[in-house]
Amino acid sequence: MKALAITAQRSFEGMRGAGVGGGVKVLAGAPVIEKGMVEEDFKELAAAGVTLLGEVGLGSVKAGEEAGQMVAWARKYGIQSTIHTGGPSIPGSGLIDKDVVLAADADVIGHINGGHTSLPYRHVCDLCEQSTRALEIVHNGNERIALLTARHAIELKCPHRIILGTDSPAGSGVQPLGILRMIALISSLADVPAEMAFCFATGNTARQRNLRQGLIEVGRPADLVCMDRAQHTAGSTLLESVQLGDVPGVGMVMIDGLIRCGRSRNTPPATEVPVVV
Ligand SMILES: [Zn+2]
Repeated sequence: MKALAITAQRSFEGMRGAGVGGGVKVLAGAPVIEKGMVEEDFKELAAAGVTLLGEVGLGSVKAGEEAGQMVAWARKYGIQSTIHTGGPSIPGSGLIDKDVVLAADADVIGHINGGHTSLPYRHVCDLCEQSTRALEIVHNGNERIALLTARHAIELKCPHRIILGTDSPAGSGVQPLGILRMIALISSLADVPAEMAFCFATGNTARQRNLRQGLIEVGRPADLVCMDRAQHTAGSTLLESVQLGDVPGVGMVMIDGLIRCGRSRNTPPATEVPVVV
């Protein structure tokens, strides 16, 4: 398992170095913890460049205390953790309830709105209130709970904890534009200002995940997406269009300061696109 994690981490890091895949950054090599792992295993993984754990609960470790011990070892060596939350994702997997999530104390409460099946809303509120960890709201979950969670976290004055995900691949598929769709969903139906919803997906994720990208600042990678309101949206600006529920149009993507693509053929066409002069 450790060898596979290191192989995945190296493969994707190496692929980027070779300039394959349009320069896209894939942070891979996220092992799912299993019974029998000891502190030395986490130390070894960290030394080899592994920085993330896969969802706690998908492997043989299902008890809160046992998971909490391993999550603490991972944290000690700088490895970030995420936990599955809610009902089983596929036959054979199990329920991870709020008590296990709280006892495991992973850095990210993964798909807090279920992947796919959500905990009762009252228990989701308990997680928001009794934990200080990141709250990941995903596409392949319960959309009603997604909206309620966003609103509850804002009412609790902790919007900085919200990060967005897709939880793909899953039975519901792999969503092209998944994060843009989440931004439009949360903004339009949970009444969240579009600029705040963008922050859930970018700066919040950077801070909660200790990523270098996701914030625009001197010294950080020049990873930029230029976008504008989609043609013929009812919104008169990009932010207004998103708040009305429309997905924006991507006009250019820059990775590490290099232009990697122009007008997207996946998004609706952007009204204005950047021009290279
Ligand atoms: Zn899961």
